[in-house]
Amino acid sequence: MADLRPNPPNKMTDRSPAENHAGGQRLTAMLPHQAVNWSALRQDFPILDQQVHGHPLIYFDNAATSQKPRMVLDALLHYYERDNANVHRGIHELSNRATAAFEAARVRAAKFLNARSADEIIFTRGTTEGINLVAAAWGPKFIQRGDKILLTEMEHHSNIVPWQLLAERTGAQLAFLPINGDRGLLDPGRLDEFLTSDVKLLAMTHISNSLGTINPVAEYCERARRRGIVTLIDAAQSAGHGPLDVQEIGCDFLAFSAHKMCGPTGFGVLYGRGERLAETPPYQGGGEMILSVDFQQSTWKPAPHRFEAGTPDISGAIALHAAMDYLDGIGRGNIAHHDQELGAYAFEQLSALPGIRLFGPTMGRAGLVSFLLDGIHAHDVVTVADRSGVALRGGHHCNQPLMKRLGVESTARASFYFYNTTAEIDRFVEVIREIQMFFGK
Ligand code: PLP
Repeated sequence: MADLRPNPPNKMTDRSPAENHAGGQRLTAMLPHQAVNWSALRQDFPILDQQVHGHPLIYFDNAATSQKPRMVLDALLHYYERDNANVHRGIHELSNRATAAFEAARVRAAKFLNARSADEIIFTRGTTEGINLVAAAWGPKFIQRGDKILLTEMEHHSNIVPWQLLAERTGAQLAFLPINGDRGLLDPGRLDEFLTSDVKLLAMTHISNSLGTINPVAEYCERARRRGIVTLIDAAQSAGHGPLDVQEIGCDFLAFSAHKMCGPTGFGVLYGRGERLAETPPYQGGGEMILSVDFQQSTWKPAPHRFEAGTPDISGAIALHAAMDYLDGIGRGNIAHHDQELGAYAFEQLSALPGIRLFGPTMGRAGLVSFLLDGIHAHDVVTVADRSGVALRGGHHCNQPLMKRLGVESTARASFYFYNTTAEIDRFVEVIREIQMFFGK
């Protein structure tokens, strides 16, 4: 872990964020921003120290996946070098160690989310699998023909397609909370209109991966819950970017991916409120999830093991544990503050350019910006930026319905994490200007 001694004051850390809270939401209350030496933290990420096409790498594709600190890489290596064995099955030393480390990660994840119990933590392959688990296992038992599943217009495909599959299976319908155009905000004033008696589930994203909108999920869950509606939060873009408290949010389910928060790919967490998991049948069948198996029928373990068939990703759990320790070592409130300052700074700098269309809230946004340059395809922006060492993303970002709603096919996106700097944003804005000039704009 890098030395976290304070940075000298700079433009970003000096600026009070209080006025930024308009339209969108903040992930934290306005806690005093503790001084963190952000540039020293970069040294924890070996991958950042490289040249791409002859330029220092500027990694602005963090919404797709974050980079991994040395501490997480070491945890993976240590597990495979010293403790590798299958979990829950053996009674030899290595298996005991692997099992203890795997279950310790579950306890750590419960603490990370402030869940009431580690039994509310299911290990998955990521956000996508977490949502599919709820749609495939909980869904058919509780959603029927004529019921509605309420989503928002800004959902990732991972929080649309599983519900479409469920709707096809059950005869339920999907409904969508609208956004207010390019600014990408929901209107809480219109929520009651959509929370009709046929709505059985509200599933929504905490932070939009295309717009940077931070949704007031606690308020939405509270209002849905008052009407007996079950709630699911897609926390893919928020889990590593600020404090996350499932009791405060009041949701029934919440899913996130380890790889977007300094952890490994192919691993994630589904939180399920105890009562919800108790009423949910198994997701997949196989080893590990049963109490007993006969030729004709079987009995299941209680949650969470009922939902974890087969050998799990043991190293994934251990590396996620290290990632959670790492993030809490910095302070998730500090990360939220810093990320959002970077988002606000980038939005402000880009706004000053000619011929640019910016998406998402003007204030109170997460640490990412989506934009289009007049007359230049998003893929061209990303391709040319890459030649200058700037890693962006261009496309529909798995948000095709949102793109349709915005009347575009794609956007270019720069997404930040705590190891990014304002100097990198300045260079990125320069590169964007160069691209405009290159295309004669
Ligand atoms: N939800 C949101 C908002 C996302 O941004 C993503 C990934 O980009 C996902 C869900 C899916 O995450 P994963 O591919 O890790 O399952």
